[in-house]
Amino acid sequence: MHSELEQLLILQDREQRIRQIRTEIETVPLRRKSLEAQLAASRASVEVLKQRARQVEMDRKKLELDVGTRAETIARLKTQQYQTRKNDEFQAIGHEIERYENEIQKIEDEELELMVLADKVKADLAEEEKKAAAAKDSITRQTADLEDKSKALESQLQGLTTERSELAGKIDEDLLARFERLFQSKGDAAIVAIEHGVCTGCHMKVTTATASQVKAGKEIVNCENCGRILYDAA
Ligand SMILES: [Zn+2]
Repeated sequence: MHSELEQLLILQDREQRIRQIRTEIETVPLRRKSLEAQLAASRASVEVLKQRARQVEMDRKKLELDVGTRAETIARLKTQQYQTRKNDEFQAIGHEIERYENEIQKIEDEELELMVLADKVKADLAEEEKKAAAAKDSITRQTADLEDKSKALESQLQGLTTERSELAGKIDEDLLARFERLFQSKGDAAIVAIEHGVCTGCHMKVTTATASQVKAGKEIVNCENCGRILYDAA
């Protein structure tokens, strides 16, 4: 094979790896953000339940106060009832006391429901906190892995970039420029093999003349269809 072609093939390999690593590095911030979002979501679901627990407790305390004020009223009414000498007033106060007692009964029923609810919320919260702790561990681990991987990729990139410039320095400037233009415009490869007379870049058959020129390996030959530089894989 043409010796410059051999150098270009090595250069192309390094450039392809550089391109691959850059693509991977570009995904790092997105993956980091996704992990942060997972952590925030997990914390938020715990916070929702904590808020719910606080609300239930506040509602329950309010009911307790409602019972308290009614109990005070009943005590006051009972004193009044004890002091009255009028029979109809005694009965009227008796009805009022009964009304307040019924209200207390209703409020206490509600309180009981709230206590059942409070237990449920407490259990849900404990479950959610357990899940959140596990999620935090996993996310912390994944974040550390991501940072390690990111550092490894950066150092690989640095190594490959150095290697690439060393290789490029040994190649004829015009040829290198041709290669770079092709490599940028084609997106995959600037140099491709011919297999059974077919360019593996564009999968078109090349002319017999082109195929023999490539086989001879005396000059740099381009595919007449896609323009990529050809080499003989055989
Ligand atoms: Zn081609």
